[in-house]
Amino acid sequence: AKKEGRNRLTFFTAEMQSHSERVLLLENALHDVIEKQELSLFFQPQMDLKTGQVIAAEVLLRWHSKELGTVSPAEFIPIAEDTGQILMIGEWVLRETINQLKNWQEQGITPVRLAVNLSPIQFQVQNLPEIIKHLLDEFQVPATLLEMELTERGAMADPQKAIETMKAFQQIGVRTSIDDFGTGYSSLNYLQQFPIYKLKIDQSFIRDMTTDANDYAIVSAIISLAQQLGMKTIAEGVETQEQLTMLQELACDEMQGYYLSKPLPSTDFQNNFLAH
Ligand code: C2E
Ligand code: CA
Ligand code: CA
Ligand code: CA
Repeated sequence: AKKEGRNRLTFFTAEMQSHSERVLLLENALHDVIEKQELSLFFQPQMDLKTGQVIAAEVLLRWHSKELGTVSPAEFIPIAEDTGQILMIGEWVLRETINQLKNWQEQGITPVRLAVNLSPIQFQVQNLPEIIKHLLDEFQVPATLLEMELTERGAMADPQKAIETMKAFQQIGVRTSIDDFGTGYSSLNYLQQFPIYKLKIDQSFIRDMTTDANDYAIVSAIISLAQQLGMKTIAEGVETQEQLTMLQELACDEMQGYYLSKPLPSTDFQNNFLAH
């Protein structure tokens, strides 16, 4: 038993080492990721469930590293948050998103509103609303074409700061949505104080809602809550017609997911979903 215990210990140590080696590798590669032009933006359409129209898109970051290949944002964003690199990456995402809106306008393509994921680390930056206002002015893009996504967990980590920043966004005309809603233990008292445009129902509830009565009940309750509070709802991770039909019956406002489209590079997105 002792021997087995020791082997197990060795095994875990080796695992941990390769994990921290991987983290170091990514940290170093992230250092000059912008200069090397290895980042790009993908766009996933969001559809109005009443009209069937694509009315917005979520911006999703992609990293194609020359050394490491494609790295998922689920892996590199948390590392960039730990090192603070998320601040320069996040600002690149904002600038690039607003630049994309400008490019569509110049090409005579009618843009849709783009929703950008914000890290809670970025939220702590004092003048984030000013930075965004400055970028919108620089590119002459209307603020109504921009939306911010903040996770429920991120918002609840510092609710006072979240309220303050959301109000500043609202003042410049930029909407805020709450991402991964249902997973972050919102205080209902705070929720009604936030100037929230819409709740994004977490995909873990959508996945099983057609087979799991609990998940169905949660989705239904979130939609009712949003209606009471004057907020819109969007279901993320919609993959089947059955889910879509059920969401329409529940009067969910919008959907996003593979059933409509996976995230696409800008030219594919504009060719498939934007009016020329
Ligand atoms: P998220 O904000 O919750 O984004 C939704 C994720 O679900 C995306 O993964 C998207 O590709 C995926 N997805 C969309 N439709 C479906 C579907 O029908 N089924 C399933 N199973 N998945 C679907 P992705 O692109 O890998 O992004 C992962 C996470 O990385 C995002 O989760 C977000 O937290 C973070 N992220 C991505 N881009 C950015 C960014 O620019 N800034 C920050 N701070 N975080 C980002
Ligand atoms: Ca999101
Ligand atoms: Ca989400
Ligand atoms: Ca479940």
